[in-house]
Amino acid sequence: MNNKKLLRLLPSVDQMLRKPEVAGLIEQYARVTVTESLREILQETRDRVMDGGFDESATATGMEEGIVEALAERLRRKGLGRLKEVINGTGVVIHTNLGRSPVPESAVADLSRLAGRYINLEYNLQRGVRGSRHDLVRDLVCGTTGAEDCIVVNNNAAAVLLTLSAMASGKEAIVSRGELVEIGGSFRIPEVMEQGGARLVEVGTTNKTYIEDYQKAIGEDTAMLLKVHTSNYRICGFTDEVSRQELASLGRKRGIPVVEDLGSGVLVHLEEYGIIGEPTVQDSIKSGIDIVTFSGDKLLGASQAGIIAGKSKYIKRIAKHPLARAVRVDRLTLAVLESTLRIYAQGERVLDRIPVLNMLTIPVSTLEQRAERLMELVTDIKAYAKVTIEKEYSQVGGGALPLERIETRVLTIEPKEMAVNELEKGLRMAKTPVIGRIVRDRYLIDVRTVFDEQLPVLAGMLIGVLSGGDGS
Ligand SMILES: *Cc1c(COP(=O)(O)O)cnc(C)c1O
Repeated sequence: MNNKKLLRLLPSVDQMLRKPEVAGLIEQYARVTVTESLREILQETRDRVMDGGFDESATATGMEEGIVEALAERLRRKGLGRLKEVINGTGVVIHTNLGRSPVPESAVADLSRLAGRYINLEYNLQRGVRGSRHDLVRDLVCGTTGAEDCIVVNNNAAAVLLTLSAMASGKEAIVSRGELVEIGGSFRIPEVMEQGGARLVEVGTTNKTYIEDYQKAIGEDTAMLLKVHTSNYRICGFTDEVSRQELASLGRKRGIPVVEDLGSGVLVHLEEYGIIGEPTVQDSIKSGIDIVTFSGDKLLGASQAGIIAGKSKYIKRIAKHPLARAVRVDRLTLAVLESTLRIYAQGERVLDRIPVLNMLTIPVSTLEQRAERLMELVTDIKAYAKVTIEKEYSQVGGGALPLERIETRVLTIEPKEMAVNELEKGLRMAKTPVIGRIVRDRYLIDVRTVFDEQLPVLAGMLIGVLSGGDGS
């Protein structure tokens, strides 16, 4: 058969689009995407024919089958760039790369009710006049933290920037040298202060700062005493830091506002679960700090947001600053935040209902059961891999509590017929991507961060990839 005859065996784009297998793909991906990929593949097949890539035995059916297969694979790979559910097998609870906090089910329900409709975002229904979006969560934030007032912005980085800009621009803010934090990315306290127009006055040393250091540094231009929670590192050994109470009382005496960047911001005491060292927002407010800032999507377990809470007179000033408009919180974020805060305000089954808190406080015995259930579901892979359940440690993540190692259970997989990094890659690119980690040539899945409902899907992906499929 010559190349011309072979080319005649090739289907047209339209013929392909009418095939039931392709119709299925159109449903899953968009029609334009399918058509585009189909054109690419048909052109590539034509090129292959011209290069002599097919012989006498080629048939129209065979070629079409090959095209459908290539199309499905191409669409799946293109789809990897889109947002999709992934299975977090890393054991890092607040995993920034994986979206930080999965939000509570009730918040998801509220969001899906509200997202596609008009809502009373800035409309006061009682009075029929314009309202403020900040009114929607004010009572919830104040009720749970003891603050007088609050405003919500995009994220905590924006909260710190806005607070500095509104309260210390052109003036001095005093910070301990032990608290000049970098949070990752480009959030560094000294640089944020510069952006906010505040002059940084460093006091003390890396490991020791005393109240006298702050006292001595206070001058005419001092507009703020800033405390930053060293959320992602600890200074251990020969150390001293000034307590919130001491700093708050110094500020009061000298008439200078005291601000604390709490970072994560947690609303429940987690000490009894072995999670120590994360101050609660209410403790900070109670100790007399004037303004605190914290994240919505770290230990709070809601959407990405920055909450600024504290004394009314400062909040009013912050809310009026022009930057407040630039870092304004959006309605979907606010809907999730409001819904999540309501769980804290109700105070019932809080640890059950907030996924990140649930994952952090889950008993080891439950993790053991979850691992055993996963083990049962993957019985079929024993031919392809050695599988065990072992003790390991999870991390809080999100920069919070870096030294905290929480006992957990992992499924360890040692593939017999493929390299462990091939397994890792296969799972990462599977239909429902699985993100685990490799430790000493074994693939580990920490079950702490896997939802119970995800176990069958996870098992399916493992079986698919290990048995030579692709998990799809
Ligand atoms: C995480 C963190 C931030 C930044 O918060 P985002 O919500 O991620 O913007 C700022 N300060 C501290 C101390 C933090 O831990």
